[in-house]
This record gives sequence, C-alpha cells and structure tokens, in this order.
Amino acid sequence: MTLPSHKALVPFVSVDNMMRLVHDIGIEAMLRDLAEYIEADFKRWELFDKTPRVASHSEVGVIELMPTSDGEAYGFKYVNGHPKNTSEGLQTVTAFGLLADVYTGYPVLLTEMTMLTALRTAATSAMVAKHLAPKGSDTMAMIGNGAQSEFQTLAMKAICGLKTVRLYDKDPAATEKCARNLAAVGLEVVCCSTPEEAIEGAQILTTCTADKQNATILTDNMVGAGVHINAIGGDCPGKTELAAGILTRADVFVEFPPQTRVEGEIQQMPDDFEVTELWQVILEQKPGRRDNKQITLFDSVGFAIEDFSALRYIRDRIKDTEFFIDLDMLADPDDPRDLFGMLQRAEH
Ligand code: NAD
Repeated sequence: MTLPSHKALVPFVSVDNMMRLVHDIGIEAMLRDLAEYIEADFKRWELFDKTPRVASHSEVGVIELMPTSDGEAYGFKYVNGHPKNTSEGLQTVTAFGLLADVYTGYPVLLTEMTMLTALRTAATSAMVAKHLAPKGSDTMAMIGNGAQSEFQTLAMKAICGLKTVRLYDKDPAATEKCARNLAAVGLEVVCCSTPEEAIEGAQILTTCTADKQNATILTDNMVGAGVHINAIGGDCPGKTELAAGILTRADVFVEFPPQTRVEGEIQQMPDDFEVTELWQVILEQKPGRRDNKQITLFDSVGFAIEDFSALRYIRDRIKDTEFFIDLDMLADPDDPRDLFGMLQRAEH
C-alpha cells in the first residue's frame, strides 16, 4: 500500500490486541519474558535517566506520568490510581504508554498498559522474589484479591515455582472471583476468612489492597522470621499497608529511593531510613537474602524503568504480527518546513 506522504505511522496495540498477544505467547511465558526484560534493564540501571514519577493528587485518587530513557529510546506511562473506582464499576488502575526514538523524537509505539501494568508489576514482584524469598518458597499469602491478584500469583508460579496460594480479601466476593480464575492454573488455591489464616505456612506474603489511607494489612506480630514480604498496594503518600514495626525488623529493598521514600511503606520512616536498591542486589554489589531468619521486604511502588522494559518487550514482540494497527498520529510533511502547506492541500 502506498501511504499518503504526510504519514509516519505509529504502531498501536489496543486492549483487544494486547489480550490476543498475551494468549498467543501464553500468560506464564509472557510473565517470564517480561521478568527477563525487566531484570536486564535493572542491570543497566545506572545509564537510565531517572526521576520520581510526576503525580497529580486529588481527594479520591492520583494521576501520574512515569518517564525514563536509556539514551536510545524514551518511554512514558500515563497511569491512574483511584481505589473508589471499583464501587462505581471502574478499574482502580488504568494506563497507556508510549515509546519513542531518542534520535528523531518520533514515537515508535503507543499501547494500552492496563493489562501490561498488571503483567509487569507481577513480573517485577516475582523477579524480586527470585532474588530475595527463602529458597524453596512454595506458598504465598495473597491479601487483596482485586485486579492485580491473579497476575501476582501466576508470576510467582511461573518464575518462583509457587505451588499454593492462600487468598484473603475483606470482600469475600473478590476472593471467590480470584479462586475461580485460578482454579485451573495448576495451583492449590485456599480461600481464607482472615489475614491471619492466609499467612499460615506462607513464605511469601503479598499485600495488594487498595485503600487511600494508612491501613495495617499486616500487623507487627503477624510477621515471623524468614518470610519475604511483597508489598504492592502502598504506593502513594498517605496510602500504606504495613505496620511500621515490620519495617524496622525487615531488610527493605526498593526500586528508586527518591520515589519510594515519598510513596512507599517507608514514607512512615525517617528520611535516612536504610534501604537497599534492588539493582545493586541483582548486580551482586549488595547482599540480598543472607539467612533463613531474615525478613526481606520489597517495598514496591512501581518504577518507570519497569514500564520501559514492558514497552520494549511489546515493541519487539509485535514485529511481523497482526497484533497492532498503524495510527496516523504524527503530521510529517514531505517538506518538513511546509506544515501549513500540508494543511492547505488537505482542504481539497
Ligand atoms: P483493586 O481495587 O482491583 O483490588 C484491591 C482489593 O483490595 C479489593 O478487592 C479490596 O476489597 C481489597 N481490600 C481493600 N482493603 C482491604 C483490607 N483492609 N484487607 C483486605 N483486602 C482489602 O486494585 P488492584 O488493581 O488490584 O490494585 C491493588 C493495589 O496495588 C492498589 O493500591 C494499586 O494502587 C496498587 N498497585 C501497585 C503497583 C506497583 O507497581 N506497586 C502496580 C499496580 C497497582
């Protein structure tokens, strides 16, 4: 097909196409691939342009922009977080993202990222748990059984060899939904009626609740020696999930400290509270898990580099597939200085 001369087309992955792509690759295979891309970018951490995400808060939620660049590509994600949305039949978290070529500044990919965020958050959790959770961890408590929960669980299965998940949500309907969705994935699924019951025998404790307040999903006395905590839901000022006492007993691992100190569980702690950056653990510059008694805590807030890795992955995987359409979103006249002439000619 000959394209009109003003068209520099940008591949666009819709929600439908993202779902087709995920099924074409296989959910668990894609989670493993994403974890590899994310780990590879954590290994290149120092060369990235990094900034805490730009957040616009309202009383009911937050809208954020998450940019980063590795010098060759530039990416950003638009994402919201509105815990009240589910009661109105809407998603708590929705997102889309863009990847651009640093040399020309032209976009090379526009994609839905609501699905992709759930996948990348889960892949990051499992990639981190692979480094920090006790060896042989096979049981996880999954507290908060909303939109992210099945993704979190499947990534732990695909990447860490999880065998059993113990579900708890304050809304039993969410637990029922999660158990139903996980019924045939090859895991033992146990529905629990209290968070205390959910953590019984679990080596990995995942908290993934949504409430715009300082909640205490795990109290200090619930967390025994030797567990790995994967704290996903506390990701905004005034929105945390863990009792402060847990933070003082745990070794805390973070993505990008300037962002996590504002948004993560450690917002409860003094500014100089000691944390370890994950990229240094992955590069073996800093220790991760030292012994079986240690409590490791991934204070996850979600960082732009994880989205960049996910965008890179989608760009690579859609080549030569039918899982995208070309968008005419960039005016690109043959004579670069004749933008106005292009507009005039379009009248006829
Ligand atoms: P969701 O609204 O679909 O699900 C949240 C669940 O938490 C609901 O089922 C709700 O009933 C439950 N819940 C709330 N308070 C609870 C409590 N006290 N005890 C037990 N359950 C409780 O939200 P989601 O899309 O699954 O996201 C969950 C959280 O993860 C949100 O806070 C979101 O901002 C956060 N998140 C973090 C990252 C990251 O990278 N760290 C990425 C995506 C989402």
